[in-house]
Amino acid sequence: MKVITVEPGVRDSVRLEERPEPPSDSSSLLVQALALGVCGTDREIISGAYGAAPAGAARLVLGHESLGRVLEAPADSDLVSGWQETFEAFEDIAA
Ligand SMILES: [Zn+2]
Repeated sequence: MKVITVEPGVRDSVRLEERPEPPSDSSSLLVQALALGVCGTDREIISGAYGAAPAGAARLVLGHESLGRVLEAPADSDLVSGWQETFEAFEDIAA
């Protein structure tokens, strides 16, 4: 999968990278990205003024505000395959 990453504290270190898909289990949600927002926080991180990478990682994945189509959802969730949802993702994706 493609991800946008930055090295926190390093101005204009943003780049597009290829990363392996995260492992899935019965509680996983699979979403096809349709659009990605860039907010003020992302701009501050890209400028080098703000942000931190997850423990053990050198880079931080951007894109916590996005729109996607649900492809697979846990059976006990309120989400249904085919729905379009907006997401605020704050879970760290380690490098
Ligand atoms: Zn934001």
